[in-house]
Amino acid sequence: MARYRDPNCKLCRREGEKLFLKGSRCFSDKCSFERRSFAPGQHGANMRRKVSGYGLQLREKQKVRRIYGILEKQFHNYFEKAEHVKGITGEILLRLLETRLDNFVYRLGFAPSRKAARHLVRHRHFLVNGKIVDIPSFQLKPHDVVRVKDKSRKLDIIHLALKDAERSADLPWLRLNKAALEGELLENPKRADIPITVSEQLIVELYSK
Ligand code: SF4
Repeated sequence: MARYRDPNCKLCRREGEKLFLKGSRCFSDKCSFERRSFAPGQHGANMRRKVSGYGLQLREKQKVRRIYGILEKQFHNYFEKAEHVKGITGEILLRLLETRLDNFVYRLGFAPSRKAARHLVRHRHFLVNGKIVDIPSFQLKPHDVVRVKDKSRKLDIIHLALKDAERSADLPWLRLNKAALEGELLENPKRADIPITVSEQLIVELYSK
């Protein structure tokens, strides 16, 4: 399966902000964006380009794609799917991304990053409503329950991530039971309750051209 293989920190520098792609490292002084916040490449430090309207739209799309770790084609498919659902397309797009299984595992705090969450899902560590699901893009519905498989309950990566994470604490659309290592999607998240700073409308404008 195709996936992005270059260094994650380069992506933050390209987008000009921290995208928090590497778990606890992103909150430490080892974060490379703290030391080199300019764009990557030979002329990155001196780049002062005026960004066009199209450029802004493109950057916003790339930012969302990179935050959720989605490749171009799949991201476009999400957009097409969002367009066919009644409501505000940009918000529905974010909702679809947030209710992917890998993102939900990350939001619950069972993994330090979305990338790690994807890895854990692929390695069959989670049950959805009692059945193993190993597809990171699996789309959850309200009242679905995600649980760490019994045999995986001692995994250090899950416990360390839970210790670090307070991500789930103030998200009203999910319920976390730390003792049982399970979480429920209570409802589809509303835009105001999705903690990412992007302008999804710019993405809609980009794809509507
Ligand atoms: Fe981005 Fe810093 Fe995390 Fe690297 S460590 S992914 S630069 S936030």
